[in-house]
Formats: sequence, structure tokens, C-alpha cells
Amino acid sequence: MEYFNKEKETLSLDALRNLQNKRLSHLLERVYENVPFYKRQFDQAGLHPDDIKSVDDISKIPFTKKSDLRDHYPYGMFATPMDEVQRIHASSGTTGKPTVVGYTKNDLEVFDEVVARSLVAAGAQPGMKLHNAYGYGLFTGGLGMHGGATKLGMAVIPVSGGMTERQLTILQDFKPEVICCTPSYAQTLSASFLEKGIDTKDLAVKFGVLGAEPWTEAIRSQVEEGLQITATNIYGLSEIIGPGVSQEDFEEQGTGSYIWEDHFYPEVVDRDTGKVLPFGQEGVLVFTTLTKEAFPLLRYWTNDICSINYDANAKRSHIKMSSIKGRSDDMLIIRGVNLFYTQVEEIIHQFGALTPNYRLLVTKEKNMDQVCVEVETKSHTDAANNNIKDQIALKIKDTIGLSMNVTLCSPNTIPKSQGGKLSRIVDRREK
Ligand code: ADP
Repeated sequence: MEYFNKEKETLSLDALRNLQNKRLSHLLERVYENVPFYKRQFDQAGLHPDDIKSVDDISKIPFTKKSDLRDHYPYGMFATPMDEVQRIHASSGTTGKPTVVGYTKNDLEVFDEVVARSLVAAGAQPGMKLHNAYGYGLFTGGLGMHGGATKLGMAVIPVSGGMTERQLTILQDFKPEVICCTPSYAQTLSASFLEKGIDTKDLAVKFGVLGAEPWTEAIRSQVEEGLQITATNIYGLSEIIGPGVSQEDFEEQGTGSYIWEDHFYPEVVDRDTGKVLPFGQEGVLVFTTLTKEAFPLLRYWTNDICSINYDANAKRSHIKMSSIKGRSDDMLIIRGVNLFYTQVEEIIHQFGALTPNYRLLVTKEKNMDQVCVEVETKSHTDAANNNIKDQIALKIKDTIGLSMNVTLCSPNTIPKSQGGKLSRIVDRREK
């Protein structure tokens, strides 16, 4: 199958807008009535749901921020009584206290639907087996992918994250055609096969659905080659639903990931002013959940930096988002220059002698912020090659405009993902 839901995925833009408008109007009624936070927010802004006639008026609504969710921890933002809630998840808590989210029966059906659409876009087909190495539990990754794959008609192997040895055995013996995990864990798996001298050509796995953290073409090349797969990006966050908010098509790699915008209405706004930006401009991604029942959000400020744009040559009509450069709150400001770690990752990709395993150590010396990039070489001999080191430092200076110390490390010395998200920044500055 080429689409999981061809009718919805290829709606004309007019039909898509009509559907969004209809859904938005129902959503506004529901949250105004059932979520005291939103009623207060509307009243304070002198707004009434009737003032929002269509998605074109959506920017009148104030943003919802992560701090609002924390202020209403755990259930204060729920819009349905608890007896209608069938599942509760929480964010991974990467940036602090986790936020709690809930799903009605219908929300879980929507979740399954968008993940099923995503899997088909990633190359999966009914009858294939999914090696699901996203963590099962409160994190939405494991169960989210599980439900969508089941809906699609795949056989799910619920491996969960970690225990790398066992993952390798299952990949070899159970012969899954599709794997999903974080890109950094795909790196770990790929490196482990290499280390053991196992030829991944003999594996059945063809497609990788990778997400939950920022990644670039550098990692894509490494894991595609290392695991012999076609790797695509899946994006999501628990507050909006979980994985499957957007997905890249395996035949349209590098052109962005489709946002399933019949369910999640996206905007990109200026990080400082909150003003909506034109398509193609980079800013903070903001979502309104058009169909969510238990935990609906209006203009949720994801903190993730990217741009959105329509792609007239694409298989589907929905808007695409570029890959995430990083989280706004993960951005380092080093001697006045804004820095996302993915910028360094892109540079590393240009050096054939390096693996895309790296980290940034941030320190303060004589009151000045310093960044040291630790990169890993593919061979032990290259680890002592000062020539490569100088070239990397020069390229970083030319491209990013910052002088950074570069340390070449021997293969397999920089910490790898043990199953989940990997933190690439070690901040040793005193807080
Ligand atoms: P937490 O915010 O605690 O990590 P989640 O597990 O819900 O909670 O993770 C959602 C976040 O993970 C997103 O807001 C985004 O920062 C990151 N993320 C998810 N998928 C991707 C992706 N494909 N590319 C970049 N970042 C991603």
C-alpha cells in the first residue's frame, strides 16, 4: 500500500482547511467549557471561542507553554472526566518535571491512525514485522509505535530499549523488516554489529523509523550504511500525542516530514516575539491539537526549532516540517553566538575519517565560555592525526563563527545511547 489513509493524506488544501476549521470550532467549545485554564486565558484576553472563525484567526489565542502544564500537574489540563480516560503517559522529563497526558478511546484511535500512516510513509507494509526498540512505559514511543503497527497489520516485536546484545540476536533471528528506535540507538546497534564482524547484509531489516531526538544527514548516512536500511524521520511529543505527529516519506528523504495536519495544526513563530512566521522561515514550532479529547492543547509552544512548507511535488498534500535543529532551551549561547549541537554534527559529516559519535563539552575559563568538541575517529591511527583536528577546527570556525577546541578520540570511546535519547552536550559551567 502507498498510503494508509489515501483520502485524508491527499485531501485538497481547501478540503483540508475546511476540515481544520470545523474541528477547531468544536475544539474551542470543548476547551472553553471543560478546561478552567483555557476559560481563564480566553476571558483575560477578552476573547470568546466565537471570535475564532477559522484557523486564520488562531494567532489571536495566547500560547500554551510547558510551564502551564507544570502548573496544572498532574491532571489540571484534562478536558474529560477520568472515567473517559483510557491511558495516561508522561513526557520523558528531558527538561525537568514530566508532564502528564491522557487519552480517551478516540484519542488512542487517532494515535494508532497517525502512527500507521507514518509507518507506511516510512516503507512499512502490513505483514511485515516491526522491531520496536523504543522504550515501553510512560514514554509514548514504545506503546505509540506498537498501537499504530498493530493497526497497520504488522507483527510487533516489543523489544523496548536497551540490552543491546539481545537486540542484535533478535534482529538476526526474528528477521524484522522494520526497526524503530532513536537515531543514537541505531548508531549503537550499527556500531555493535560492526564490532562483532556481523554482516548486516544478511539481516531482513530494510527500513528504520528514527526519532525522539534531533539528528542530521551525518547520522542518516552512518546508520543506513551500517544497518543496510532506508532511514526516515519520525517526530512527535507526548503533549501533542506522541510519535507520529510528523513523518518523512522513504522516497522523499531530505524534503521534510509530513505533519498530519488534519489532526495537528502547525504554526512556526518567532522565538522572541511569538509572531507567526511565513512558510520556510525558521522558528519555534507550535501545535493546536484539532481532535484530541482528553488532553487538548491550543497553540502549544513545543520549543522545537524548524520551518514548515508545502511541497507541491510530494505524494501527500499535508505540510512538511524541516528536521529539528534543536530545542530552543538546548541552544547554547557561546560568546554571543547561538549554537545548536546539530550544527556541529553537520560539519562532522564532511570528514570521512570520523564517526558521527561526538559530544560538546562546555566549560567556563577566565569568565569565557569554551566549547570542546570531542569527535571519534574510525581508526585508531587517525586519533593522533593533528592535521584532521586542525581542519575540523577551521571548518567549525568558518561555518559557525566560533573557535572550538577539538579532541580526536579513539573509536568507541565516546558514550553511546544505551537505548533511549542521548544527550550530546555536557555543560560543566557552574549554574
Ligand atoms: P521530553 O520533552 O521530556 O523529551 P517527549 O519524550 O515527549 O518528552 O519528547 C518530545 C521531544 O523530543 C520533542 O519536543 C523534541 O524536542 C524531541 N523529538 C522528538 N522527535 C524528534 C525528531 N524526530 N527530531 C528531533 N527532535 C525530536
